[in-house]
Amino acid sequence: MTSASAALQRRAWRLPMTTYAAVSNLKDALDRLAGGCATAGFSTDAAQPSINWVFLGPPGVGKGTYASRVAKAFGVPHIATGDLIRAEIKSGSSLGEQMKAVVNQGKLLPCAMVDQVLHDRLARGRQEGERGFILDGYPRTAAQAEQLLKTADIGLVLNLSLREEVLVQKCMGRRLCRHCGKNYNVADIHLPAGADGQPEIVMPPLSAPPECEPHLETRADDREEVIRHRLEVYKQESKPVEEAFRRAGLVVDFELVAGIPETLPRLMPLLESYIGRHANERA
Ligand code: AMP
Repeated sequence: MTSASAALQRRAWRLPMTTYAAVSNLKDALDRLAGGCATAGFSTDAAQPSINWVFLGPPGVGKGTYASRVAKAFGVPHIATGDLIRAEIKSGSSLGEQMKAVVNQGKLLPCAMVDQVLHDRLARGRQEGERGFILDGYPRTAAQAEQLLKTADIGLVLNLSLREEVLVQKCMGRRLCRHCGKNYNVADIHLPAGADGQPEIVMPPLSAPPECEPHLETRADDREEVIRHRLEVYKQESKPVEEAFRRAGLVVDFELVAGIPETLPRLMPLLESYIGRHANERA
């Protein structure tokens, strides 16, 4: 057994994991980012187990919640393009003003705008010594996926799914604390098993603590008509993204049927088995 795999076996995911801090160096290529869909470049130090992962899933699936918890457990940053974009909008910059109009209609932003904020975030992280990442909300189009595959040594693409009627309820139940930035959900979901073999779904609310209660807000794009539009956009855009990653042998499908406390203990051991794997090692 290698020392890396022995180290992996010793780890328990519930602990704070500076030892998981692993992973790959963000390369100078980030600074060469140009317009269009050319995006950040990443590389993996072969001597270290790597976590260069992408989380895919429709709006409302809980991608951000899972990505942030997994990232924290494994000691890598959770980088969500949606969060970066909302921060840019909040800053009141002229780029943010241009983004706001598009985002509030539930449409995808032009690649150049997304790339700019993603690049800035990665460059800042690199300066601060971040290694590896879990990407959430990127890539969203085939062009972004192809570009990412060219420039990054992606080890895993986790494809989260959830029944559509639950997705709408979850989006409408989303609440963001404008004070600390944490996400909560007031939706209380219990769907019986479907006659067609669909599993029962039980997802209790993810309640905010009392200190966040006065600061909770609903995202401007979490209105029902906008959510339905975003789901349609996702369906159209996700197929080629998924296909690009499937061709690369990177996709692991994971259907959600329960809340976080029941799901994380199922998900974490699965993810642990992918630490350090690269596309070219997959069957
Ligand atoms: P999210 O929080 O991931 O749902 O993103 C919120 C909004 O930001 C989306 O509806 C898009 O308008 C925009 N956005 C986020 N990521 C991307 C991306 N990779 N490409 C284009 N637009 C994006």
